[in-house]
Amino acid sequence: MDFIPYGKQWIGQEDIDAVVEVLNSDYLTTGPKVQEFEEALGDYCDVEYVIAVANGTAALHLASLALLKKGDRVLTTPNSFLATSNAILYAGAKPIFVDIAEDGNIDLDLCGEILKNDNSIKAIYGVAFSGRMLDQKKLKSLKENYNVLILEDNAHAIGAKEGETKSASCKNSDVSILSFHPVKHLTTGEGGAITTNSKELYEKMLTLRGHGMVKTPEMKPWEYEMRELGFNYRMTDIQCALGLSQLKKLDNFVARRIEIAKRYDEAFENSIIKPLYTHDGKSSYHLYVVQVDFSKLNISKVDLFSRLREKSIGIQLHYIPINKQPYYKDLGYGDEITPVMDRYYEQCFSLPMFPKLSDEEQEYVVETLFEVLNA
Ligand SMILES: *Cc1c(COP(=O)(O)O)cnc(C)c1O
Repeated sequence: MDFIPYGKQWIGQEDIDAVVEVLNSDYLTTGPKVQEFEEALGDYCDVEYVIAVANGTAALHLASLALLKKGDRVLTTPNSFLATSNAILYAGAKPIFVDIAEDGNIDLDLCGEILKNDNSIKAIYGVAFSGRMLDQKKLKSLKENYNVLILEDNAHAIGAKEGETKSASCKNSDVSILSFHPVKHLTTGEGGAITTNSKELYEKMLTLRGHGMVKTPEMKPWEYEMRELGFNYRMTDIQCALGLSQLKKLDNFVARRIEIAKRYDEAFENSIIKPLYTHDGKSSYHLYVVQVDFSKLNISKVDLFSRLREKSIGIQLHYIPINKQPYYKDLGYGDEITPVMDRYYEQCFSLPMFPKLSDEEQEYVVETLFEVLNA
């Protein structure tokens, strides 16, 4: 059996052809493909404005500079990739880590409690963890009751829906970000995007993407003005062509991920392996996360990881609580009371989940997992 990672991209000949076409054209960067990709993403996500950027972290950085000021306090989740809360720090603001709910997403009820007692909170940075949308009704009511800014990190969740609401449509949030890293749903190598329905935020983030430079029709032909300290966070035409080609296949990719999730759900029914959630239509399944109570078994999580690796299966863990990282501990974090996250971290791991995973490979993963856990 070839090694089966927890996630990987699926590049077809049509993707390669799309990239080669750009390589043979006049523009390698900031040509027609960037705008085409932004428009296609806007249509797909059902959102007004899209800015393609160098990666998901750059998207979080620009969004944070647009939303936050130095010293602002922001509720966020310990259960994410580092970049989510790092972006709060980039803006000189202060992350406050809130416990997660049973589905692995930030506990929005707890956020409500905190907001009720503390009107100094500026924003909530939530993550649609593993591809499951943040509860839209709760986001809406938090926005209405507390006038709080909301950023949805949808790096895991392009293609997810809650009823009619699509992920990254920003129906109940101010800004959303996407990542096109190869383990995510669609890839451009490195790449990311910001989505918003606010013209003001859009213009601010667009300017920041390109060095803070502005050019208007009234200016002389050579003129430009630098109005803010910005960055070069542009995406290339080469990447955007790949993104456009991948986006055409995204619905098929998501459908296949859901198919795989349902097969896992079925295989683990009434067993010692507990899916983080079973299929209910709200996840586009970047990850398939399970929990196992290792205190009841003869095998530790460390041994499980190495046994499976010996058998060519690459499980992963998403995530180590961000507030427990050494850098964050040095800033005074790490002692937050987060019982759900603590138990989750003890028990969780992620199984192979990517559209190219074959039924035979998936059966092998399930069989091997039971065999090793029951040994
Ligand atoms: C991947 C990821 C990011 C960062 O995206 P990059 O494109 O790798 O910079 C941010 N947040 C979450 C939740 C992610 O999974």
